[in-house]
Amino acid sequence: MWKADAVALADRISALLTVVRSAEAEIGALLMEIESRGVMELFGYRSVGRLFEHLADVPKAAAENVVKRARALTSSRNLDGTPIPAVAPTTGAAALDGRLSTPMIDTIVGVMTQVPPEHRDNAERDLLSFAEEAGHKQVAALGARILAHLDPDGTEPDTTEPDTTEPATPSRELSLRRKRSGVWELQGRFDDETGARASALLDSLAERRRADDGPDFRSPQERYGDAFSDAIDLALNSPDLPMQAGERAHVMVAVSLEDLKSGVGQATLGDTGRISAAEARIHACDCQIIPAVLGGKGEPLDLGRLRRLVSPGLRRALYLRDRGCAFPGCHRPPRHCQGHHIRHWADGGPTELGNLVLMCGHHHRLLHRSGWQVRIAADGLPEFFPPVFLDRRRKPRRNNLHEPLPFAA
Ligand SMILES: [Zn+2]
Ligand SMILES: [Zn+2]
Repeated sequence: MWKADAVALADRISALLTVVRSAEAEIGALLMEIESRGVMELFGYRSVGRLFEHLADVPKAAAENVVKRARALTSSRNLDGTPIPAVAPTTGAAALDGRLSTPMIDTIVGVMTQVPPEHRDNAERDLLSFAEEAGHKQVAALGARILAHLDPDGTEPDTTEPDTTEPATPSRELSLRRKRSGVWELQGRFDDETGARASALLDSLAERRRADDGPDFRSPQERYGDAFSDAIDLALNSPDLPMQAGERAHVMVAVSLEDLKSGVGQATLGDTGRISAAEARIHACDCQIIPAVLGGKGEPLDLGRLRRLVSPGLRRALYLRDRGCAFPGCHRPPRHCQGHHIRHWADGGPTELGNLVLMCGHHHRLLHRSGWQVRIAADGLPEFFPPVFLDRRRKPRRNNLHEPLPFAA
């Protein structure tokens, strides 16, 4: 009789474990749902990890582990809305059934993050079927064998210490998600070397601005955010960027000609996003974003795209003349700059030296949005008129910071 009791007790524990594990997996799935809807909008928290830390009253590291596990088990969405499959989706389904312990999930996920995508289905199936009869330590040993088989030249699995169940940290991962509010969230982890390079790149772009438009009040985070945006522009402007169907990678913005001219109204960015027509006007100024200009009935208008693109020869001439952002006091070199049409091409402004000024992204925006104005002076160089609140007389200013070219003196 006591034996029957022991079996009943163990059975009861097993049954409860199934409930607990299944509930934990569902919590993970719910956290991912919250993340995709926007935890800031729903709860005012910066991350689902932080939210769960408070909801569950657990230490930060424990909450982050729950989130990290959920990410590996739950599919999310790509930039263009297409789903990114989870690293271990079948494991996610088994976890929801309550069949896997937490160390087992972490073991499988740790192996799966190192398996090349084309082998993931097979590897996950093998690991999961072994998991039905073996403990997580044995599954970890099988995982090490699978990885050694897939990468025979890689590091030898540590056979002297088969108990290494600690999942290996993936060396690089990045997720970029668009939330319904139109705000994008970037999250990732990198190996030391990539991190150091990224930090050096952003540091070089995130310096405080010194220019005539006043002191730079941006927080370090804001400066890094702007630096990231500049880094994207630099990469998109690189001639080494791979082509997509014979074209540079670009984002389409659809806007009506009327809205583009007036800067009032809305434009559609990419597949889903919406931006103001004023913003579209800035992007379209140097065709950083290729605008699809639509007529009154939504029909695409060809406004002579080649004519409004700044040709390489014209860009060189612009570089030689302005030698960097032409805004008074700005240090930015030409590679950070865009050609601003003084009279917008949508309003009939020509794409020629006399109608273009080289400007960094920040000052380009400032020029479009504020009371600053620019013209090409009689000597052929750009000069800027400050808004009245800065200088009542609006005395023109020039940028004299860029060193003159040795042969131009
Ligand atoms: Zn412009
Ligand atoms: Zn500038």
